[in-house]
Amino acid sequence: MPIKRLLIANRGEIALRIHRAAHEMGIETVAVHSTADADAMHVRLADHAVCIGPPAAKDSYLNMAAIISAAEITHADAIHPGYGFLSENAKFAEIVEAHDITWIGPKPEHIRTMGDKIEAKRTAGALGLPLVPGSDGAVSDIKEAKAIAEAAGYPVIIKAASGGGGRGMKVCNGPDELETLIQQAGSEAKAAFGDATVYIEKYLGNPRHIEFQVFGDGNGNAIHLGERDCSLQRRHQKVLEEAPSPVISAAERDRMGGIVAKAMADMGYRGAGTIEFLWENGEFYFIEMNTRLQVEHPVTEAITGVDLVREQIRIADGKPLSVKQEEIEFKGHAIECRINAEDPFNFTPSPGLVTSYHAAGGMHVRVDSGLYAGYRIPPYYDSMIAKLIVSGRTREGCIMRLKRALEEMVIGGVKTSIPLHQKLLTDPKFLDGDYSIKYLEQWLSEAE
Ligand code: ADP
Repeated sequence: MPIKRLLIANRGEIALRIHRAAHEMGIETVAVHSTADADAMHVRLADHAVCIGPPAAKDSYLNMAAIISAAEITHADAIHPGYGFLSENAKFAEIVEAHDITWIGPKPEHIRTMGDKIEAKRTAGALGLPLVPGSDGAVSDIKEAKAIAEAAGYPVIIKAASGGGGRGMKVCNGPDELETLIQQAGSEAKAAFGDATVYIEKYLGNPRHIEFQVFGDGNGNAIHLGERDCSLQRRHQKVLEEAPSPVISAAERDRMGGIVAKAMADMGYRGAGTIEFLWENGEFYFIEMNTRLQVEHPVTEAITGVDLVREQIRIADGKPLSVKQEEIEFKGHAIECRINAEDPFNFTPSPGLVTSYHAAGGMHVRVDSGLYAGYRIPPYYDSMIAKLIVSGRTREGCIMRLKRALEEMVIGGVKTSIPLHQKLLTDPKFLDGDYSIKYLEQWLSEAE
């Protein structure tokens, strides 16, 4: 049965993004919202809307029972979770499917496997993906830990198996600190995630973050859509992303892309996924897989012409992949700036009334945002309020266009990260494409 009415279990720009793809496919949409989001654009544009609870996400956007009820009363036949919130919750995916509602996402067992960092690493290794050297699973015995760290070479990083969002990691510089740090990491992980399990990896000094977009049909066919370079990060949060990466050659993209696509085919993976690697001195090291759509997916859309949300919906509907690997061409360059409602240099959140709003436009400029003049940005959620994506034939042309587009954007009444992006776009190292995951934080501390 083709999907006719889609419930979007999310808010903000990603809810709009999904609504747009659905409407272009002739599918009706159901928005869900907290009481704080009653005036939000995703609610205004949807065909139907259901209030699912008070502002706190745990009572609304994470409230599984309220979302399932909203789907039942509106007769929605599918649910798209977007990113964040319930998108990587295997239990929620199972509940959706148990209600005979189509889950627009991977098979629940794959969400579960990839959500456990040790399981994910084992699975990735078994599928032939290159791993960061380190322990094969949990470490508890200190003698064993010392041998593993010695073999990998110091410094090493101790990671919580249940960690996430850049938390639960400790860098260890030598054997003297190892025992204390393992104990600390374990007890902190127990307190933060309810699970003391830790493992060890070699700590890479100056890597880039390079991730591959993949798609599987769930029946053993899979493709890759090239890489994104997301090395510009602050506190492990991505700030600006680009595709292709300035350091990956076409031959390397084909080689690594082939490996990840084969891994997904062998796994029987269904839907969209992202395989994240650290990259240093020409080598890839798997760190994790995200079993969902990513914030930065539009840069891939810009250089491949493939609508990733449409593809997700088609696959969930049981259709085959709409493109073959050999039909995918990587054309030109694309860059995305995440625009947050915050002070551009000290990062203090800046929610509140948007007094004026004008989105940039023109050739190859895309703005994904739920903003409008008179909208009040609520203080309860993520501070990202817009994504500006530009594309062009070359990276240089793309950067010129991005500068022009950032000048055009007007978001009045709140502070935004636009000035940070404008400053970054004049940085010689950025212009040369010469940056690692450490670069932005160094640059910020020097800019002070
Ligand atoms: P999370 O699930 O918390 O996002 P990841 O394993 O993806 O954790 O790591 C988050 C970030 O931590 C990476 O993007 C990278 O910046 C840093 N990191 C993780 N593992 C290593 C490593 N072995 N060496 C150096 N940096 C690392």
